[in-house]
Amino acid sequence: MNIDIIGAGIGGLTTAIALEQKGIKTRIFEQAEQIKPVGAGIILANNAMQVYEKLGLRKEIEENGNPISSMNITKPNLNPLSKIDLTYFEQKHKTKNIAIHRGTLQQILIEKLKSTEINLDHKLTSIVENTNGYFLKFLNGEQIQSSTVLGADGLNSIVRQNIFPNNSIRNANQICWRGITECELPIKFRNELNEAWGKSERFGFVQIAENKIYWYALKSFKKNSNEFSINNLEQYFGDYSSIIKDIIKSTKKEHINTAEISDLKPTNIWFKENVCLIGDSAHATTPNMGQGACQAIEDAFVLSECLHKYEITKAFSEYQKLRLPKAHQVVRASWLVGKMAHLKNPILIGLRNQMLRLTPTSVNRKQNEQIFQLAEI
Ligand SMILES: Cc1cc2nc3c(=O)[nH]c(=O)nc-3n(C[C@H](O)[C@H](O)[C@H](O)COP(=O)(O)OP(=O)(O)OC[C@H]3O[C@@H](n4cnc5c(N)ncnc54)[C@H](O)[C@@H]3O)c2cc1C
Repeated sequence: MNIDIIGAGIGGLTTAIALEQKGIKTRIFEQAEQIKPVGAGIILANNAMQVYEKLGLRKEIEENGNPISSMNITKPNLNPLSKIDLTYFEQKHKTKNIAIHRGTLQQILIEKLKSTEINLDHKLTSIVENTNGYFLKFLNGEQIQSSTVLGADGLNSIVRQNIFPNNSIRNANQICWRGITECELPIKFRNELNEAWGKSERFGFVQIAENKIYWYALKSFKKNSNEFSINNLEQYFGDYSSIIKDIIKSTKKEHINTAEISDLKPTNIWFKENVCLIGDSAHATTPNMGQGACQAIEDAFVLSECLHKYEITKAFSEYQKLRLPKAHQVVRASWLVGKMAHLKNPILIGLRNQMLRLTPTSVNRKQNEQIFQLAEI
């Protein structure tokens, strides 16, 4: 069996590693001329780390990242509103939650690949079905014949647009800035993710390596994201804790990445004949639960197991059956969290904060229990 993967993001690379380990031959086609690291960090939650344990990558990722043992929502002054203690899950699943630089993770994944070719500068433009399978056309003029295609080409997936042209992308009307800075956090914050919720905005930060902090900041916009300027970031978060203000001040503006937040409206079909979607191309989510890449990593594991066990059609349909409910649960819950985090009305903010303070640990734990549990296959 030969499989062609479109996209060398976290989803595509992890799928190629998992398929290689099952003895399935793969080729990757990536639009970028070079795999350049995004200047941002990522949190690999317990579910993703369980997959990386199975793929033999856990130790290396742990050694190159920073363990996170609690996730906190706070007020702008960093006074806690809610805390999820992750040590319970660390013990249960024997894996930690790891915050890591995206570039470091990409490098670890690429180095793990042995037989897979990665074809850079190959932007897929169309897929045409023919008697032998599919004809893939690339912007560089190359055309190849393929029998099975996996679309790991992200939110604006060309593979998805070719097989399901009517899927819709939803803009959350939130602008997001992400950056990495070198500064030392007070000891108390070094193994925690803290997200401070204000009025129509929030600021999150986490240590990803020694003296390296990854942070993100979001604000709601009315009509378009031009309402805000990167030059005013310090002013937008001027009422926040001095730790947050210092993080913003110490980051070079040219290293800050700016994007609007969107997701994919949940869809009930992820494959058509021998073409199947994985990761963001199938179920892009808003980043509010830090689960987008983790869900792509779970896809990689489940799909590789299915392709090893079953013939193609059964494999794709089993994969969809096992993965779709949880991936959509994340998309829906994450959309809701984004709305809750960005409330504007002070009375509603007060009620929300009270609810966060009063939610019992057992309820928070139960919600995460489902997210961190891998599908049985
Ligand atoms: C602000 C923010 C913070 C986030 N934080 C987290 C987090 O902490 N934890 C987490 O789990 N997730 C997080 N996510 C989500 C995560 O980044 C994505 O879910 C994840 O990167 C999806 O991986 P993917 O491989 O499916 O898609 P992508 O990472 O989008 O990769 C797609 C790849 O396909 C390539 N490509 C696209 N089109 C073509 C084409 N036509 N031909 C060839 N190649 C193509 C692209 O160049 C790219 O390399 C966050 C997202 C955002 C926006």
